[in-house]
Amino acid sequence: MGGKLICCSRATGRSPYGMNMKIGVLALQGAFAEHITMLSKLGVERAEIRLPAQLDDLDGLIIPGGESTTMGKLMVDFDLLEPLREFGLGHAIWGTCAGAILLAKDAHREQPLLNLMDITVERNAFGRQVDSFEAELDISKLRQAGDAREAVPFHAFFIRAPIIESVSGNAKALVSLPDGRIVAAQDGHLLATSFHPELTGDTRFHEYFLTLTKGDASRL
Ligand code: GLN
Repeated sequence: MGGKLICCSRATGRSPYGMNMKIGVLALQGAFAEHITMLSKLGVERAEIRLPAQLDDLDGLIIPGGESTTMGKLMVDFDLLEPLREFGLGHAIWGTCAGAILLAKDAHREQPLLNLMDITVERNAFGRQVDSFEAELDISKLRQAGDAREAVPFHAFFIRAPIIESVSGNAKALVSLPDGRIVAAQDGHLLATSFHPELTGDTRFHEYFLTLTKGDASRL
């Protein structure tokens, strides 16, 4: 892997939401830079994460899209698997696409997983790269009081995306396609999306995730 091990693109100060927090983006592989850009748009202190010690002062973590087997192997190589799992027991984590797979307890095959969310995922459920697609999603379950944007569907990009095949225990479906297949789920402070909100410029999912780090969202 190229690049520096100790990173960081950080901003200081409060976000416009009055929340004094720091969010990490796991930066082993995949679309981490896009999440950093979204967090900077929201004025949130942020850091690229590659080492276990960097988790210490975070309020929440985003695991980006990419390739879940590669990212899982890198988690093992960087001694991050167990620290990430422990972090997720007490802090908010949001996994997008490959990140959602890594949060799952079951991905129907042998690969390193964080085993944190009571969801079963099916990888590449829509086919190969050429079968990537865009869809308008009803995200009314993300409603926050006074947000006039709630009526507007969320434009989502699905890129070799997984489906959240089933939710159990405390996990709940948050967003589904019109045919009922689940593409976003929440389990307390853990969030999984099959698609890539960081590619849209629409910050509503990032804002929703920030509320989970404070535990003041209406938890599903
Ligand atoms: N298909 C990838 C995987 O199984 C995920 C794709 C993505 O994150 N865009 O890990």
